[in-house]
Amino acid sequence: MTGRMQPAAVVAMVGAGQLARMTQQAAVDLAVELRVLARSADEPAVLAGAPAIFGDPGDPAALHTMAAGADVLTFDHELVPAQPLRDLVAAGHRVHPGPDALAAAQDKLHARRLLGQAGFPVPAFCPVAGPEDVERFAAEHGWPVVLKARSGGYDGRGVIVARHGGDLPEDLARRAADGGPTWLAEAHVELAAELAVLVARRPSGATVTYPVAQTTQVDGICRHLVTPAGVADDLAWEAAELAQRVVQHVGGTGVCAVELFVGPAGRLLVNELALRPHNSGHATIEANATSQFHQHLRAVLDWPLGPTELRAPAAAMVNLIPGPGAGDPVANLPAALEVPGAHVHLYAKASRPGRKVGHVTALGASTTAALDVAARTVDILLQP
Ligand code: ADP
Repeated sequence: MTGRMQPAAVVAMVGAGQLARMTQQAAVDLAVELRVLARSADEPAVLAGAPAIFGDPGDPAALHTMAAGADVLTFDHELVPAQPLRDLVAAGHRVHPGPDALAAAQDKLHARRLLGQAGFPVPAFCPVAGPEDVERFAAEHGWPVVLKARSGGYDGRGVIVARHGGDLPEDLARRAADGGPTWLAEAHVELAAELAVLVARRPSGATVTYPVAQTTQVDGICRHLVTPAGVADDLAWEAAELAQRVVQHVGGTGVCAVELFVGPAGRLLVNELALRPHNSGHATIEANATSQFHQHLRAVLDWPLGPTELRAPAAAMVNLIPGPGAGDPVANLPAALEVPGAHVHLYAKASRPGRKVGHVTALGASTTAALDVAARTVDILLQP
């Protein structure tokens, strides 16, 4: 007798980008049905075979259709309004992360206040209602001042390093939909390093933390990362412990990524929080005992979490971000696959300058060796 096995679970994911695409790969392993909310049929997760509902993440009816019959609703991005999610929770649907936790990843001002008031170390900041607020903040903390859009920014879009009063954007006084400011000002931190810590938390409370990664940003966008981070063991331990407390404080569920600054004198500051699988966790697919995508499914379903340790002494991940004049990664793929030990991931996104269209991971005896393999492979993928 033939017959279709029931899926082990149905997970509805809002968004269908590369994070949903890689979650779909994990869902296949676990016989989980991943249903994605997509805007169009050419989004990365739809092309990977995830069943799609087409609609807008801001549309309550689309979110309701997604949640109906699913074991849990989760996200590959945070651009989802809170009220329809609250309505789903009130109607008995499981939503992870929940709408209150999600707010900490949606609104940088809210996140700074929430964590600052609870005593977590964050950069000095203030809401900005006009240029005079920035001048006043600079008088106290000095230039440069980092201006950040309160919401909607990513990959450095929405972050401006203002060196003096002439660098300020024109719309500083604009108000957000809730009547609050759209910008915040932040003290510019002399960065000794940037770290990222993945934490996975089940709704019933169990939590695991991944080995700390060190990220390198160029123009506000992550270019590459290595694990273990090149910092002293006690600082890495402190970072992992801090990240776990941050996730617990905001009530994050599923996989969460906490980005940290290492400031002067090795002082850790919380930069930002993502309540979903994250770019800083892509290397976990090959490098760790449980990939962040499997772990996210396990966590949001409240299933047992997997171990997180590294499977090699070191790992590196380099993002595939074409610059102007770059070649086509698809045309260069066979040449890139000549590199032994390079794990190439392409997201099936059209190649455009500045857009993340894939990544390459390598494991190695040292972070330098792993980074060399991954970076060499990315160079081949992008050669004209
Ligand atoms: P996004 O949400 O676009 O990723 P972030 O707030 O993470 O924005 O900022 C992007 C990058 O800009 C950071 O990774 C860091 O390199 C730099 N940056 C952000 N805030 C500061 C700051 N206060 N001081 C120094 N550099 C900063």
